Amino acid sequence: MTRREEIAANLAAVRARIERACAAAGRDPDEVTLVVVTKFFPASDVRLLADLGVRHVGENRHQEAVLKAAECHDLELTWHFVGGLQTNKAGPVTGYAHVVESVDRVKLATALDRGAQAHERELDVLVQVSLDPPDRTAGRSGVDPAGLAELAAHVEGLASLRLRGLMAVAPRGADPVQAFAELASIRAEFLRAHPGAEWLSAGMSGDLEAGVAAGATHVRVGSAVLGQRPEIK
Ligand SMILES: *Cc1c(COP(=O)(O)O)cnc(C)c1O
Repeated sequence: MTRREEIAANLAAVRARIERACAAAGRDPDEVTLVVVTKFFPASDVRLLADLGVRHVGENRHQEAVLKAAECHDLELTWHFVGGLQTNKAGPVTGYAHVVESVDRVKLATALDRGAQAHERELDVLVQVSLDPPDRTAGRSGVDPAGLAELAAHVEGLASLRLRGLMAVAPRGADPVQAFAELASIRAEFLRAHPGAEWLSAGMSGDLEAGVAAGATHVRVGSAVLGQRPEIK
């Protein structure tokens, strides 16, 4: 099997999973955007994905993403930055990312706004919400739900950022159905203050069905499309 055939088969399987999950939830599959997370995989795979109809790709490390986005510039893809982001990398990320899904603090939002202004463009952003138990401090990513309203209000006040919605990752070892149900209730409250910010990025290779059931408009799928990546790089 060629790499193209392998990716095409995986992609068909993932699209079928999304369709089934939408059918089960009584949702239209057109409401769910597949973002293929291409981290650790080469630009040649991104090219194959584009040829197979993928329009959205995601990356989680700036060093890797900046090179791949440049190599694939001609494909006119929408690039999502989905990883933890240091404030000093925010400016460079606005050079190629169309969506930053991992805004988790005021300082980062302000730096992204400044970067977008310098590039004379607007940037779509999602605020990442932590679903980790409050007593877990190690490895947390995302703003604590208690701090969401303040961060979202800050983002909304920034001229070059467009607040589009929320992103979350189900905690390791947690039941994703339960975690995303909690996310859906956080989102319901968030939407009262930000009715236009309807995007919800939730669900990965292992739990995209739970994401779709909870109202996800974006699922971020890596290994189910591209294969296993090394755990640590
Ligand atoms: C890597 C990554 C994904 C994709 O994970 P898979 O389990 O390979 O589908 C999704 N979201 C984020 C934030 C990631 O870093």
